[in-house]
Amino acid sequence: MIESKDKISKPDISRAKSTELYNKAKTYFPGGVNSPVRAFKSVYGTPLFIKKGDGAYLWDADDNQFIDFCCSWGPLILGHNHPAIREKVIEVMQNGMSFGAPTALENELAELIISNNPFIEKIRFNSSGTEAVMSAIRLARGYTKRDKILKFEGCYHGHVDALLVKAGSGLVTFGETSSAGVPKAFADETIVVALNDKEALAKAFEDFKDQIAAVIMEPIPANNGLLLQHTEFLQYLREICTANGTLLIFDEVISGFRVGFAGAAGLYQIKPDIITYGKIIGGGLPVGAYGASAQIMSSVSPEGPVYQAGTLSGNPVAMAAGIAQLTELLKPGFYEDQNQRTKDFVNDIVEYASQRNYPLVISRVGSIFWLAFDTNAVIRKAEDIDPKSMDHFKKLHLELLNRGVYMGPSGYEVGFVSAAHTTAILDTAKQAIFESLDVVFSPSQPSPGGRALNEQADFRE
Ligand SMILES: *Cc1c(COP(=O)(O)O)cnc(C)c1O
Repeated sequence: MIESKDKISKPDISRAKSTELYNKAKTYFPGGVNSPVRAFKSVYGTPLFIKKGDGAYLWDADDNQFIDFCCSWGPLILGHNHPAIREKVIEVMQNGMSFGAPTALENELAELIISNNPFIEKIRFNSSGTEAVMSAIRLARGYTKRDKILKFEGCYHGHVDALLVKAGSGLVTFGETSSAGVPKAFADETIVVALNDKEALAKAFEDFKDQIAAVIMEPIPANNGLLLQHTEFLQYLREICTANGTLLIFDEVISGFRVGFAGAAGLYQIKPDIITYGKIIGGGLPVGAYGASAQIMSSVSPEGPVYQAGTLSGNPVAMAAGIAQLTELLKPGFYEDQNQRTKDFVNDIVEYASQRNYPLVISRVGSIFWLAFDTNAVIRKAEDIDPKSMDHFKKLHLELLNRGVYMGPSGYEVGFVSAAHTTAILDTAKQAIFESLDVVFSPSQPSPGGRALNEQADFRE
């Protein structure tokens, strides 16, 4: 108790330099950022401008140090600035940065992936998750000669026009249901159903018989909370797609190489027809990819009629980073160790919270976790998330920053544990989380600077 009093009197972190940079950035970029959630609209204060990352740590422009659970939104499964990646990138860069012609590095990364993944036979590299998804959708449409696609409410697939339909991630964070600038005609080709709902899915297949080219899904929905699905639902999805001549696309941009080397397909042992990758595959540099059977991939140009290209696709520097990162992931015991550390970390936090009746639930799979402040039931659908519960996250986020822990700036975003998050570092983070929870859920505690942190906790409603 004495300890927590000490911590509460700890002053706010300084954000003077970050604020100055943010004000300047606002003159250059819409909202001061190049990707919306970074703008801290769903949490207190201005965005932190980051100067440096090393291992599990980040430093901002004001020299505040944080244990980072955002990890660049997932790509950094080894932590920041991993020496194996840095050295490989520097080595490859000595020979130039882009040729617009094939290099051996593309073969090397493809071989690493394909020889360790039973679900795809051929792959195509591009430069982002969005690009991978867009290309996978085109491939499915070209291959099946059908136009409609089906997506799930609460799954995010990048900023692809036809998929910005009731999507999650930044959109839900801002309370919007779609994006301006998407022609109605595009959205009309997209069918949206709720997750974990067999009947809705069956009805969609009835209503649009022989019209659905593909179902796209995050098999581990992790962009709108972590909406873990029953394996049985995924199996049902696989069956209904097969029965209807519809391709099943697993968007594994987050889950790929995260929950295991073969991603969610490997975890659940379900074979999709096309898989998309991003994030981890590039080791922190911009890489996306889509893969499928040799037969489906033969529809992609120049072998087939589905056009898709990229000036910087297969870029040697990015390939080098991907090779270095994936090589580390293939070392024996990598995932077991990382997943166990995450599990222990999460269990200790849940235990602390439940002993004190704090309304905290943590969903976890592999080294992905999500803090939800809603104890009603296991949340498996977007609509089951109570937007009011996000207020707790908002408060927690500020308290965590003040105690040296950086989480993605939205309660709808998941957190990531990296290989650099040792047990000792996780113990330190846990203490900061315990103290922050005490502040958020103790109505009588004064808050630093008298901000709106001492409101009555409303979890009994
Ligand atoms: C991040 C993400 C995307 C978009 O990838 P970008 O590289 O941001 O374009 C697509 N799908 C899923 C599941 C993602 O998590």
